Amino acid sequence: MPRKPLFRCVSLIGIGLIGSSMARAMRRDPSIAGRIVAAARTDKTCATVLRLGIADAATTDVVAAVKDADMVFICTPVGACAEVARAIGPALAPGTIVSDVGSVKQSVIRDIARHLPEGVAFVPGHPIAGTEHSGPEAGFAELFQGRWTILTPLPGSDRGPVDKVAEFWRRCGSQVEVMDPAHHDMILAITSHLPHLISYTIVGTATDLGDDLKAEVFKFAAGGFRDFTRIAASDPVMWRDVFLNNRQAVLEMLQRFLEDLSQLQRWIRRGEGDKLEALFTRTRAIRRGVIEAKQA
Ligand code: NAP
Repeated sequence: MPRKPLFRCVSLIGIGLIGSSMARAMRRDPSIAGRIVAAARTDKTCATVLRLGIADAATTDVVAAVKDADMVFICTPVGACAEVARAIGPALAPGTIVSDVGSVKQSVIRDIARHLPEGVAFVPGHPIAGTEHSGPEAGFAELFQGRWTILTPLPGSDRGPVDKVAEFWRRCGSQVEVMDPAHHDMILAITSHLPHLISYTIVGTATDLGDDLKAEVFKFAAGGFRDFTRIAASDPVMWRDVFLNNRQAVLEMLQRFLEDLSQLQRWIRRGEGDKLEALFTRTRAIRRGVIEAKQA
């Protein structure tokens, strides 16, 4: 007899790159969800989801999407979380678990928790996996394979729902770590948010160059620029929301970065090659560490 799935009905509010990758991972492993319901803002996305066959139903009505769910993942840009939670809160049945995939955790907790009724568990989460593409066609079942998902449960929350959400991510191929939300936001500010900000800046600077120079930048992009263009092609709305919602941690990391950049500027101006070489030797070892951690 087939095993009872982990969840009877999983509702994905927002089904872009992340939501559709979760849907595909659930399709790949039927032990995760008996039924998948998706909600999006537009009819076009709902039609795409049904054509791809990655959910059993798709709707623009977020309330209808959570009505029968025992597990709800909010997978919209973080700026839309408050509006979604306010709408679905009254429709959630007692015993339902709500989670999210937002790249910022403190603001999402502030925006979602207050709209959830008594008897509904909230387990905030963030899969550290992604690409520069967006929308339901960009997703793939292997996105989370070997990557980390960070859960940031609220103090005093029940173990049961946290364990179930952790198990969901493990069955999607992910490793799971539990962390304090403020710590999450600080770590992500340096490992993800600042690198995106730097990429947006460099590509923006190149775009503002004179026409002749700009043509050469594209022609010789393989010199390093192209790696920044990939990151700077990431979704503008998602990243606008990340910077507005992780303001404090990003500004703190940016300040440190600017100080270090000024120091490099000074070393170059003064011809202090030994200092440059020592730094570049240290940073090379970091790359080896990332490869050894299988996160390259
Ligand atoms: P995405 O591809 O742009 O998809 C966003 C989805 O949310 C779309 O289905 C969109 O519907 C829907 N949506 C937007 N506003 C909505 C609203 N008010 N009500 C209902 N649905 C709404 O975004 P994504 O890359 O999957 O990112 C989703 C979340 O995952 C973000 O919070 C992001 O921080 C987080 N995350 C992203 C990455 C990454 O690399 N992309 C990695 C980890 C975590 P329509 O298509 O109809 O507009």
